[in-house]
Amino acid sequence: MAPTRQMSRPEESTLDLGEFTLKYRGDALPQPELLVIGKRSGRHKAVHTFVNILDNDGNLVRQAAITPDIASFIFGSFEVRGSTEAFNIYESDLVVGKWSPRTRTNVSPDLVRHQRTIAEQSFTATGGKLAHHWPIFQKLKETGFGSIIRATLTLHQLCSSNCPFCSTILRNKRDSVSLTEAQAFVSTLYNEQAALNRNEFVRYNEEYRRLTGTDIRLKGLILSGGGQPNLWPHFSEFVRWLGELDLDVGLITNGFPPKIAEDVYERFKWVRLSITPESASPFYPDGRFDRQYIPASLRHNDSLTVGLSYVYGPWTDDDMLKRLDASAHENGFRYVRLLTDCNLTRQAQLKAHQDLADRLFRLGFIDEVGKPLSRIFHQLKYHGSQREAEELWSDGQCKLQSYNVFWDTTGHEENGYSHCYPCDSVTVLADEQGETDISVSERRFNADKWGTVKSTEVHRLFTEPLQPFFDPRDICASCLFMNNNRAVSDLVKRASYGDMNLDTSLEHLNFP
Ligand code: SF4
Repeated sequence: MAPTRQMSRPEESTLDLGEFTLKYRGDALPQPELLVIGKRSGRHKAVHTFVNILDNDGNLVRQAAITPDIASFIFGSFEVRGSTEAFNIYESDLVVGKWSPRTRTNVSPDLVRHQRTIAEQSFTATGGKLAHHWPIFQKLKETGFGSIIRATLTLHQLCSSNCPFCSTILRNKRDSVSLTEAQAFVSTLYNEQAALNRNEFVRYNEEYRRLTGTDIRLKGLILSGGGQPNLWPHFSEFVRWLGELDLDVGLITNGFPPKIAEDVYERFKWVRLSITPESASPFYPDGRFDRQYIPASLRHNDSLTVGLSYVYGPWTDDDMLKRLDASAHENGFRYVRLLTDCNLTRQAQLKAHQDLADRLFRLGFIDEVGKPLSRIFHQLKYHGSQREAEELWSDGQCKLQSYNVFWDTTGHEENGYSHCYPCDSVTVLADEQGETDISVSERRFNADKWGTVKSTEVHRLFTEPLQPFFDPRDICASCLFMNNNRAVSDLVKRASYGDMNLDTSLEHLNFP
């Protein structure tokens, strides 16, 4: 169907195409807005207020508010460039009013000013913590069976924010699970898996007990829920129930609804508060993230780790970065994790990493080799390539699936069950073979491509031998977890495990 465009006034226009409706509101305050609205039943929207203006080599020249001319330019190139790249505009194209493809300058990750710190390895999943669970990889090597020690649950699909980089903008708000379903899922990975390993994989289980103090079973659980898991109606009851298990639990949320009792948060091992562009979260008082409500139980509390997370993009100015750092100090938070938009393709993402690192250096947050000088650390996370995919997965098997499960509730309303996935990055896999051949990220969970087992059959991930449900060389070339995949491959290939050298400075070992 041909795109339909309606122009009422120069400062207001709408374009209907594919899975999205674009709506420009030039008279919005305090900045003009371009909304990208998903057409699926959720009708989630991303609010864009700024774009990147680039030189012909793709370097950032400036960030610009969205004028009617820029909006018109984005409308014209959106279908070809997709919902993320369309907001990176070459200045010379803007002058002539038409996008033209060009050859990108390749950025090598080595050119980004960066040092991988203990904080980055402890508070994100870089693969560095996997060795601390080595008996499960010896078990995998010798028996072919996986062991699920880490899980993430979305629980529902609600969020109060409208981030431009939303990874699940095409989700359905009604795909929610019940408390009983969530408890059954955890119980299977915790109790059933432990019993199986005690009875059938005795040697590995005993080695694992010596190393970690428990049977092989679920060790770390993250609640991440469509933006705000604490809006799920059973959140407090579920967290109290989890508190009775010997399990490390982490929380990722965009905010804290006031109706949740503050002591509920004390049951977490760690809490990560995602800070959105300030125009994207209507609940920020006066449009300021640092004026939002934060439970007293999370401030200056040394018994759990609290951190901030922020995605760098055209919406970021120096003041925002300074206030992020100040907020971490004022609230006694351990870190501020900065990363770039994962919906960008590999080369655009590496360029964004370069910009971010240079800006952090200019502001005095890192030194000239990228070492952090404050609580901010820069997570250098970027897409893999087809060449790496072919080398890494010669057997066609994603290795994350051997120890990790991500349960997303997409499809739950319609089917009464939903699916498990090896990771959460399948929603943001953007591939490029050149600027004219971009396959944009799906921005939703697609079980037909990346689903493994139904949520009601999660036991199959440890009662059946590890099997590929899809070939990652065909659909995951831009995987964001290639390091983790590589770490598993290396652990499985080891000739012996007695000489393992474990890094004792790492924290949060149950979230590898
Ligand atoms: S993106 Fe990577 S980790 Fe995720 S399913 Fe694909 S291969 Fe596995």
